[in-house]
Amino acid sequence: MKVYLHSIGCRLNQSEIETMSRQLLAAGHEIVTETAVADKVIINTCAVTSEAAKDARSITRRIHRQNDDAEILLTGCYATIAPDELGKVEGAGRIVVNKEKANLVPMLDPKARIDLPLFDQEPVMREFLAGTAGNTRAFVKVQDGCNNKCTFCVTTVARGEGQSRHLGDIIAEIQALTAAGYQEAVLSGVHMGSYGYDFGNRAGLMELVQAILGHTDIPRLRLSSLEPWDIAPDFFTLWQNPRLLPHLHMPLQSGCDRTLRRMARRTNQAAFRELADAARAHIPDLNLSSDIIVGFPGETEEEFQTSLDYVREIGFSRLHVFTYSQRPGTAAATMPDQILGPVKKERVQRMIALGNEMSLAFHQRYEGKKMNVLWETSVGADNQGLCWVGYTDNYIRVNGHGSADLFNKVTNVRLENARDAGMDGVFLNS
Ligand code: SF4
Repeated sequence: MKVYLHSIGCRLNQSEIETMSRQLLAAGHEIVTETAVADKVIINTCAVTSEAAKDARSITRRIHRQNDDAEILLTGCYATIAPDELGKVEGAGRIVVNKEKANLVPMLDPKARIDLPLFDQEPVMREFLAGTAGNTRAFVKVQDGCNNKCTFCVTTVARGEGQSRHLGDIIAEIQALTAAGYQEAVLSGVHMGSYGYDFGNRAGLMELVQAILGHTDIPRLRLSSLEPWDIAPDFFTLWQNPRLLPHLHMPLQSGCDRTLRRMARRTNQAAFRELADAARAHIPDLNLSSDIIVGFPGETEEEFQTSLDYVREIGFSRLHVFTYSQRPGTAAATMPDQILGPVKKERVQRMIALGNEMSLAFHQRYEGKKMNVLWETSVGADNQGLCWVGYTDNYIRVNGHGSADLFNKVTNVRLENARDAGMDGVFLNS
């Protein structure tokens, strides 16, 4: 069977799609990069914003127009919280809710043996995977779900309570990825800080990272999003091991305590500042990025300005700015004082402008510095050669010119020409 995979939204969705692609390959199927030749299509949807939900609908319609013979299976958060709405879209096939997602591959092919021991899967795992998984970085899901109830969050409605994967399974997956040639594993989860809580272990994430560093040879390990609480006081000492990369994404969501309370976030200005200071004290060259929601119900101009000032004070290296959107089933959807569209739009522009300014300032600190870059994709060619894009250990996006064999290699470059979106890298060793 030829299967086309598509993931919308967060890194967790991406890691789930990568796991599915490995399971499909292990079961003898082929992953294709063109919809036209696919027998089945799997779309892992996202519901975090109304745009993500809209994307799921339009991608389903588009793929159906490209190949109306292929069955389109829809899974993920949007498919879970709005199965009827999504099911009505032209081309939509079976809806597989998050709870049943783990059985999606056997559902496609009941004879598939996805419980093959890792040893037997190894020849498959050794190959780089096509399409979504043809990466140098592999996303590894370590937990799903969340026990918090942030009032804007649909993810927790869609994914249920926190559930951690067993440590042994995660280690085995990362060992297999290392054997397959991956240079970097990125740990992902809905609320990674609660890893192990369902096993009664409050220091679970710290022990997990220690175990991965101790029992695998993955050259680079990165954490994806980490909520700014449930972090052990000595957590940042983990970065004494240079294989753990100096990059933390801690979603703040608002820099105003009053807004944070309405969001039911378990942080505030003082707590976040303490965390950011501790992280910076322990992790040289830290890239600290964050998410901010703009236009949350009841956000006055004064609250927004407080948020803006606080974000500037912390000085993130990258900011993902989201316009608040009412998601059905969340507490915030029925809160009074919803903010009007034009007001949200204007605030979003101000927050994005600050984000760009902070990214530029962060990159300017690296002008002339030598850093390692893992080269990931070639994006074209010009008279200087192939144009490559890669990332430094601390996740600065770097453009460079190099030879055809640069894919998945780490080289030392001198960084130049800071922009808000990234920098240029001049090769030192090639
Ligand atoms: S911590 Fe809050 S925002 Fe994050 S997944 Fe849980 S409920 Fe959602």
